[in-house]
Amino acid sequence: MSVNRIYLASMGHLDADILEDLEEALTMHFGFETRRHPPIAEPEHAYDPQRRQFSAVAFLQQAVEHCPPEAVKMLTITERDLFIPMLSFVYGQAQLGGKVAVVSLAQLRQEFYGFPSDGDLLRERALKEMSHEMGHTFGLIHCPERLCIMSLSTNIRHIDLKGSEFCGGCRAVLRENTAVTRAGGSEVLAWEERL
Ligand SMILES: [Zn+2]
Ligand SMILES: [Zn+2]
Repeated sequence: MSVNRIYLASMGHLDADILEDLEEALTMHFGFETRRHPPIAEPEHAYDPQRRQFSAVAFLQQAVEHCPPEAVKMLTITERDLFIPMLSFVYGQAQLGGKVAVVSLAQLRQEFYGFPSDGDLLRERALKEMSHEMGHTFGLIHCPERLCIMSLSTNIRHIDLKGSEFCGGCRAVLRENTAVTRAGGSEVLAWEERL
């Protein structure tokens, strides 16, 4: 079985109609055929009533369980506000050098900050966050170059400030790692989760 596809799936109900744009961008940035996966159910017991947020780790684990064997990678998109225990929220999470990533639209929405909804801005932010998390799955770590897509964003202003491209250094590593993946090898050293 050839392993050559990136799968894209919603996890739970998705309000935004942005999967088509994400699908196109995935193919463009990473050079693999991208396929839509049927929607995946939200993981059970992921909700933390005290925080009123959902466990990013549970969402990532749910993605692992639904990842098709022929998938190079799988990206899942959720409307739920995600957290990990050490942080108040995360925009997304990925397995470093692994197969799956999850992106949350909750804090990418202007509504979250009390502003009117802005579909174009949501799409732009989601594309950046998608590239960032997928970069992690291809083995990229956080980049000190503030405008690079692999730069760590801890607030929405920084997401808007940074570009939508990989810097030269990150692009070189990405090119090498996608080539290894395409050749059927694995760039995986050890699985680790990244924000
Ligand atoms: Zn970089
Ligand atoms: Zn990151």
